[in-house]
Amino acid sequence: MASLRCRRDPCGVICLILTYFSVFYADYVVIQYVLIPAYSDSVWCTLHGSVFNLILLLLLACHSKAVFSDPGMVPLPETAIDFSDLRSQSSRMNERGCEGWTVCSRCETYRPPRAHHCRVCQRCIRRMDHHCPWINNCVGELNQKYFIQFLFYTGMASLYSLVLVVSAWVWRIRSEREGDAEKEAEESPSKHLIV
Ligand SMILES: [Zn+2]
Ligand SMILES: [Zn+2]
Repeated sequence: MASLRCRRDPCGVICLILTYFSVFYADYVVIQYVLIPAYSDSVWCTLHGSVFNLILLLLLACHSKAVFSDPGMVPLPETAIDFSDLRSQSSRMNERGCEGWTVCSRCETYRPPRAHHCRVCQRCIRRMDHHCPWINNCVGELNQKYFIQFLFYTGMASLYSLVLVVSAWVWRIRSEREGDAEKEAEESPSKHLIV
């Protein structure tokens, strides 16, 4: 229920669509405007294209795991409990050594230490970090690993595409110097501009 409610957040849905659009657009630009013009007659085109797509595939896999997995929601009580009763019980629990357990006034549930209430998901999340619109989900105890992996692959894909742009440029300059100078002379300015 709560995860469905979470997915209905308009900002989260827009951010999700933007994330997928950015990934596919980056793939299109790198292949169409960097790899094919620079390495069209070389094995490097296939190699770089495969590695870049592998990184994007891992990125999307981690992203969907972070989106669709439970971030660690604290289960709701099966029956409504009187609040005054909850307060006295929690103080008794503290005496017994269960320190840090609190009562959420919004979803009326006992929550362990470091659990926080998310206003978007309308639930308490164990070890909540933040609510991330880019995964349209909370980052909590159970999906933090996937979220960090998603960030890692995003950084890796960005860095790799930067390296590809620079190396494609260097490759072009070198191939022009080695020969075909006359042949390339007419098209090279526009190709440099594309890179
Ligand atoms: Zn709560
Ligand atoms: Zn949330």
